[in-house]
Amino acid sequence: MITLKGRGVSAGIAKGKIIFLDRTAFIPEKKKITDQEGEIQRFKAACVQAAQQLSELGEKIADKLGEEHAALFEVHSMMLEEDDFLDPIIELITTEDVCAEWATETASTKLAQEFADMEDEYMSARAIDVKDVAKRVIAVLSGTQIDVTSGPDPVILASDDFTPSETAQFDRSKVLALVSQAGAANSHTAIFARTMNIPAIIGLGASLSAGLSGKEAAVDGESGALYIDPEPHVVAELTTKEAALQAERDALEQYRGKSTRTKSGRTIKLYANIGSVEDAESAVAGDAEGIGLFRSEFLYLGRDNYPDEIIQFESYKKVAETMGGKQVIIRTLDIGADKQADYFHLPHEENPALGMRAIRICLTRTDLFKTQLRALYRASAYGNVAIMFPMISSVQELIKAKRIAAEVREELTAQKFEFNAKTPIGIMIETPASAVISDQLAQEADFFSIGTNDLTQYTLAVDRQNEAINEFVDTHHEAILRLIKMTVDNAHNAGIWAGICGTLGADPELTETFVSMGLDELSVEPSFILKLRSRIAAFK
Ligand code: PEP
Ligand code: MG
Repeated sequence: MITLKGRGVSAGIAKGKIIFLDRTAFIPEKKKITDQEGEIQRFKAACVQAAQQLSELGEKIADKLGEEHAALFEVHSMMLEEDDFLDPIIELITTEDVCAEWATETASTKLAQEFADMEDEYMSARAIDVKDVAKRVIAVLSGTQIDVTSGPDPVILASDDFTPSETAQFDRSKVLALVSQAGAANSHTAIFARTMNIPAIIGLGASLSAGLSGKEAAVDGESGALYIDPEPHVVAELTTKEAALQAERDALEQYRGKSTRTKSGRTIKLYANIGSVEDAESAVAGDAEGIGLFRSEFLYLGRDNYPDEIIQFESYKKVAETMGGKQVIIRTLDIGADKQADYFHLPHEENPALGMRAIRICLTRTDLFKTQLRALYRASAYGNVAIMFPMISSVQELIKAKRIAAEVREELTAQKFEFNAKTPIGIMIETPASAVISDQLAQEADFFSIGTNDLTQYTLAVDRQNEAINEFVDTHHEAILRLIKMTVDNAHNAGIWAGICGTLGADPELTETFVSMGLDELSVEPSFILKLRSRIAAFK
């Protein structure tokens, strides 16, 4: 048995096989071969297998999301039969005596570049398809798994770190736990795991390596211990611990269906943070009183192209309907920084967290923004929807964004779409600037939701993705608490409500402080809701 220690960021116990998501496996080495014909046959067999994987994936997606979403897999599968794709690879194997992995990587990179250089937007977008298909073929050739969650059994997923776009693609029913080498506590790996209510350990370091793939393991998401080939006594201890955790969860059931109130009768809204339509089910299961933050950018991640108005509308509508009249606050696109999608073609930036992200992208690319706002307003006809803008740092930005929203409402009215013209528009307070001018912003916003993850990053100048500075991240820093208090007071003076949707909102050590500061809402990962309700019930 090997024991690795990291930081538990999502409690719970899991046992199963580890699968390591190893991206380096997709950078093949140039190896010489002697049997050209054999190599070509190996390449062709890999193409057949890749096509089979794609058709299985296509069926799954069609079942889950509808036929129209599966079309891409058909396109990818067809590419595996096209001479334009196959011939240059076979030619490289023949003329240079190189292995199929390297030939596929080299020829497909060239082909992808040719597509990328084309004027026609549709054709240039095919560059990503070529890269995707080639990656799948290389994965088959090298025996690595590309769809880490495509096997028959659920697994413990391991990696250096998980990107938001990877988490967006996982088949969630197949993920027992997440374990990663990197360890920034506010990273999206941790947020994703807590939303899914699965155990997670981060910061396990380089000992968590690809060589562990296929091994039996046990995860203790509370203590942060990962056991490889766990001995029977460890399994027994973890089983006992799991039973105790279950007993704790059972005891919290008495709070289900109740409103959240202190002993003196003050009520606080306990909402849930979600990143997908499926997460809304977790919110319902967690007994959320609403959705306080739907990170809509996850609809944009893990895809090859922008989600159109219909795809977005259907997703927002589904969440609104799932919540059955409870408030659903949908945050407009917060892409950039740690959340990247290739097709946005965002320029390389030295400091992406201080760069082109969130509302800045929406105010620059109003076509994208309008598409999303149209979808949001159309969904408002099907539930209790509110719109929230991220990363606001000036009143002018908010006014501009609201003006665009007003244009969208005019268009929809002219086109006779049904929607709630009074859909509340709130903002995230996640820059120090917005907290400081929250008195002015409160004149223009219907509510505030404090994003403590970014507020901490920008106030304390600590990169939320950089684990090397973990010891300097004091989440309870007086500066953060003062900015929160200032925001709440300014909101109340203007007659609007203020909540917290950053990770700090779920910190049990601060619950009493937040209650006494007068926060009206806390939006947390669904699994924290009953626990927080029980804590709040104990306060005056
Ligand atoms: C935050 O910054 O606190 C927040 C809730 O937004 P995100 O974590 O998605 O940046
Ligand atoms: Mg944020």
